[in-house]
Amino acid sequence: MGIDIKVFLIVFLVITCLCLFIGLPLLLFFIKKRNDHVAFVKVNSIALKNLVELNRRYKFYEVSKNYDLSHTYDNDVFYGTVSPEDYLIYNLQFNRYNVSKEILGVSNNVIKLTEYKKEVKAISSFGKYESEVGKLNIEYLLKIERKLFNSKILKPTTVFAINVSLAYAKMSGEVCSKKSGVFTGGRINQLIDMLNNQDRGFYCDRGIWDAICRVERAKVSNKMRFSIYQRDGYRCRMCGRRFKMENLEIDHIKPIAKGGKTTYDNLQTLCRRCNKLKGDSY
Ligand SMILES: [Zn+2]
Repeated sequence: MGIDIKVFLIVFLVITCLCLFIGLPLLLFFIKKRNDHVAFVKVNSIALKNLVELNRRYKFYEVSKNYDLSHTYDNDVFYGTVSPEDYLIYNLQFNRYNVSKEILGVSNNVIKLTEYKKEVKAISSFGKYESEVGKLNIEYLLKIERKLFNSKILKPTTVFAINVSLAYAKMSGEVCSKKSGVFTGGRINQLIDMLNNQDRGFYCDRGIWDAICRVERAKVSNKMRFSIYQRDGYRCRMCGRRFKMENLEIDHIKPIAKGGKTTYDNLQTLCRRCNKLKGDSY
């Protein structure tokens, strides 16, 4: 047993020494060799210089920010009435000019990219260097040059997309359902055209207007509903009578159909009967 441990220790020491005195210098030698070759290629490669010059000429468009949308409803009925496309339309009301600009920039990228790829392919000066290769290994230089070259080829954005994800979560926070949609430039442009088609401030497309109204109406969260009831003392603001909560409804003072918004100031408590009587009058 004692001998076994001694043998083991000796073998262990020998291996450690071999690693230290042969392995380490060998490793350092390879690292230095690689660094020397990389440095030479970076300074002297004509192909790389041509590519850098090409990249400078092609100014591709960069999308300025992420337009993805997400929202969590605490009311399953409203969650059910709003589709991801409705939610997108609603938001495009406010940012469609920026979104249009991004889509145009990205489609220009697609056109320019074809030309760019042709020009990249035409660069054929691999292995031609501005100074003497000297002791360096030409095969190794070429390998490094190809790798660096490929890493410097530009990859511009060619698809513009907006992801919309909607969820329904109970007031406790437990997520019960999710739905989502991905919309790319073509469809978004169609929606923007429909939004831009207005007559004296009104959207001409009925579908667009309905989508906006559905999202606006669904903005009444349960949290908001309860705090309005509380604010109004559980009384109908038309007949003044007090009701149990299940007989109360939230009313938009200026109706959504007439451009009213879901804000605390524009909401009031009504009983079912009065709400029916009021309808869309304003
Ligand atoms: Zn009433």
